[in-house]
Amino acid sequence: MPSDDEIRAETRRLGRTIKRNNLIAASASGVALSFLSLLFFGYSLKSIIIGLAAGFVYANGFEYVLHRFLLHAGHGFFCEQHMVHHTTLQSPEAARYVNFSRNPWGVVALLCANAIPVLFLQWIFHGAWGAGVFVSFALYYMAFEEIHWRTHLGGWLPRWLRPAARHHLLHHAHDTGRFNVFLPLFDWLLQPALPTAPLHHKKGNPRL
Ligand SMILES: [Zn+2]
Ligand SMILES: [Zn+2]
Repeated sequence: MPSDDEIRAETRRLGRTIKRNNLIAASASGVALSFLSLLFFGYSLKSIIIGLAAGFVYANGFEYVLHRFLLHAGHGFFCEQHMVHHTTLQSPEAARYVNFSRNPWGVVALLCANAIPVLFLQWIFHGAWGAGVFVSFALYYMAFEEIHWRTHLGGWLPRWLRPAARHHLLHHAHDTGRFNVFLPLFDWLLQPALPTAPLHHKKGNPRL
């Protein structure tokens, strides 16, 4: 029977491998989608800068909406998966459930699904900002996953990101609220309009 330390070391190794594969999937998808946008819609320096800024704000809003309304819905596959992350944080298997997706194809699907409305809007408005949006979204995803990992499992974070890490740990402490993981931009923006009440969701079954 393996000890807790052996399980912890093994799941960290597994978690790091998943994180690396997710990073490769996010960068390859970001590059491919940006190339698609450049090919069909062209570019200009101004459109790239607008796209990078819009992609960052969009990714932050998407993170908030996904985490609040899908992962904490109280029911459904994605909620149950996320509850495993919440309920295993103190267990030796925590590292196995810290990554957003346990399969790199989930990351590819995430980026491609988000690309559909962007490409549609580019087609309608003949905008060239898609490449910037895709680069920004992919970079945001990679930063989000790395920061989330280090928040829970340790590792260096720059001083300016430590309040963001505390913000996420408070989300876990109270089991609701504070839905942004990277930077709490949409938490600040939407909190007055959409105050959160404690969610009485059922906990998922930790697969221990
Ligand atoms: Zn959560
Ligand atoms: Zn977390």
